[in-house]
Amino acid sequence: MRRGTNLPAVGGFNQSVVLDLVRRAGEGISRVEIAEASGLSPQTVSNLTRRLLADGLVRESGKRIAGPGKPRTILTLDPRGGYAVGVHLDPSVVTYVLADLEGRVVLDRRVRTPRQVQPEAVVTQMAQTIGALVEASGVAPDRVLGVGIAAPGPIDRETGTVLDPPLLAGWHRVPLRAALAERLGLPVGLEKDVTAAATAELWSPEGTSHPHQAFFYYGTGVGLGVALDAEVVRGSSANAGDIGHLLVRGDGPPCACGQRGCLGESASPARMVREAADLGVLDLPARDLTLVEVDRAFTRLATAAAREDPQAMEILRRAGHDIGRALVLVANLLDIDTVVCGGPFWDRLAPVALPEVRRVVDGDPAVVTTHPVRVLETALGSDVTALGAAALVLDAVHSPRPAGLLITAP
Ligand SMILES: [Zn+2]
Repeated sequence: MRRGTNLPAVGGFNQSVVLDLVRRAGEGISRVEIAEASGLSPQTVSNLTRRLLADGLVRESGKRIAGPGKPRTILTLDPRGGYAVGVHLDPSVVTYVLADLEGRVVLDRRVRTPRQVQPEAVVTQMAQTIGALVEASGVAPDRVLGVGIAAPGPIDRETGTVLDPPLLAGWHRVPLRAALAERLGLPVGLEKDVTAAATAELWSPEGTSHPHQAFFYYGTGVGLGVALDAEVVRGSSANAGDIGHLLVRGDGPPCACGQRGCLGESASPARMVREAADLGVLDLPARDLTLVEVDRAFTRLATAAAREDPQAMEILRRAGHDIGRALVLVANLLDIDTVVCGGPFWDRLAPVALPEVRRVVDGDPAVVTTHPVRVLETALGSDVTALGAAALVLDAVHSPRPAGLLITAP
């Protein structure tokens, strides 16, 4: 439980404590209950809630009778009090969401990631799309609190820089956070994609009951977001979660690292569609495919599997086996009890692969956890990572934790 302090100089901290209590209360909370839960004096709580009411972040929602004495006024979050934009930069597709103060998606939009263009062009496109999204939503621009970006790693979170993501051609040390903050005139935060996705799951109604969970991200590349004790795990440079070189198949395809059977290679959409072409399931040019071509070919592979083409099904089933094997290693290492799966390519993989993932996680000889590990699909759909990026902004508003979002103010 977070405790407040009654010193006047830390009103911002205490305000976050109060706002966080109101958000978590869901059905509402009285000033007396806020004082009891936070350790703040009734006078301090009264002052802070007056400011939050004036700012439109909370509202009074009726009265509740609690024992003798006069009925207590109940405070709830005003979801329309503030909004955040979340941007998920995947090498294949950029997803935008506008989320309200409770973390609900108001409006979303998906745009194909421009191919082989300079990062400046991507920043310009992002700024224009965000402006159009806010305008289309009808939300007053001054109610938008900030923008969170989720990007493939590695990132430099301190400086808000996208370093050298292996799948984003032409990106080298791009100061995305500062560039976008300057263009938009809004605070901007940058987070690794898998960390953002894990944050969104923690924020979801289901997430509060899974404090020890991992998010398996299946996009152009694979990754893992981790939450332990209901806090996301970032690591020393905020780049935790690279599972690409977990060995999952002794006779698997060669990886750039020199080993065979690394998860990032064996379960990669690019390799799977190439294998499908080699077996005659797909007709693809012999040259290296662009990311968009891989994306489209993967859809055709999933369609072939849905028509019960045995070779297509076997390729997807084997990816499910390899992912299951990796999740066993992860669950053994971290003692998590829940894995949530999602990401831009997940929905196409899941019909064939998910039963296999679950079969392996339930029964692989390497399982050592003493409890079952549930493998779930995200209820947040393709918006999950972008919503997580927006949640980072909202979390910075709500959360008094000192290790909150590092933001570049414009
Ligand atoms: Zn490797």
